[in-house]
Amino acid sequence: MLSPEMLRDDFPIFSSSINDNSLIYLDSGATSQKPKQVIDRLNQFYSQENANVHRGIHFLSENATRNYEEARVKLANYLNAKSNEIVWTKGATESINLIAHGLSHLLTSADSVAISALEHHANIVPWQQACEKTGANLIILPINELGILDLAQAKILLEKYQPKILALSHASNALGNIQPIAELIQYIKPYNTISVIDGAQGFLHLRPDIKQIECDFYVLSAHKALGPTGLGAFYGRYELLCQMPVYQTGGEMIKHVSFEKTTFALPPGKFEAGTPNISAVIAFATALDYLQQLEHQKVQQYEQSLFQYLVSELQRIDGIKLYGDLKNNIGTLSFNYKEEHPFDIATLLDQFGVAVRSGHHCTQPLMQCLQVTGTVRVSLAFYNNKNDLDLFINALNSTISMLE
Ligand code: PMP
Repeated sequence: MLSPEMLRDDFPIFSSSINDNSLIYLDSGATSQKPKQVIDRLNQFYSQENANVHRGIHFLSENATRNYEEARVKLANYLNAKSNEIVWTKGATESINLIAHGLSHLLTSADSVAISALEHHANIVPWQQACEKTGANLIILPINELGILDLAQAKILLEKYQPKILALSHASNALGNIQPIAELIQYIKPYNTISVIDGAQGFLHLRPDIKQIECDFYVLSAHKALGPTGLGAFYGRYELLCQMPVYQTGGEMIKHVSFEKTTFALPPGKFEAGTPNISAVIAFATALDYLQQLEHQKVQQYEQSLFQYLVSELQRIDGIKLYGDLKNNIGTLSFNYKEEHPFDIATLLDQFGVAVRSGHHCTQPLMQCLQVTGTVRVSLAFYNNKNDLDLFINALNSTISMLE
């Protein structure tokens, strides 16, 4: 049985107050809060287990190595992948950069790479750079006036260009839209397009199954899924990982080094140069245990009921404009109020203890398509409750009266 109130008690941050108000955290799209189990695991590692991995044969080093590698197995099981297909990085951004670098050798000026108009800068710029270096063409799958991917148009472009790579977010960080990734991946199968899914937002809310999605790469950030900052990962189809050139070089990622030549370890080791973020990996395993014991369907239903309540309450306020797909959504809502600057709204909301994000959300091209400079973004997670939303709406109404 899902008990949101009991789960909320697992998150120590909710006992803190901001500007003499209790914290109303509606910015989980930026980073999720952490349950005490994850915080305790970090503490335990540094107080009792600290050692480097893959280096020593002493007890602590072997123990740290075992826990580090077990975390890889845990993430692989969570994604329904194999553990040698999981690479640790420092975040979704590094994952996408690594993959774009690794696939660039496949691109020529006759090729194209497709992304959608909804992408985060982290899933635009690395591909733009790869295209600039190789002369390949960057294709943008367009959105309609509501900010939803135009599926029919997307299919026309994919058929026309038959891109070498399709890089798509599982869910938009700015609007929350869940993208039709499985459908598009099936659609591009005849063209042998390599699919890269940016799961930075999807991983927590959509519990991805790689075998069902059938993507070639799936990228995530641990800190957006209850884990520590400074850690990310990606799944990569093993055959492609083997073909990809190394990204960073140095210790740990080699098979043999001589002054004349270096040979590299097999994947995933060849992509993990230097000392990794050991404590974060081990604590992320605890975050995955935490997520695993939640009944995903119930969590999703709960998040959806909160989201629909939020939508209906906002729709009652005159002058509010909502963006994005309000039906097929991970629980992230962007809005504007009349001509007011989103920054002013977020600043005033902060006085009431409400944490929301304002601005372009690292999606400047999307904002351009929507013809706005930015929005206010409310992003929910399962530890939010109806009371948070009532307090937010009260604070927003007060904010609006201050602005008028
Ligand atoms: N993609 C999306 C959709 C995101 O929301 C983010 C983070 N906001 C990223 C990529 C980059 O993640 P990170 O900053 O953790 O590397």
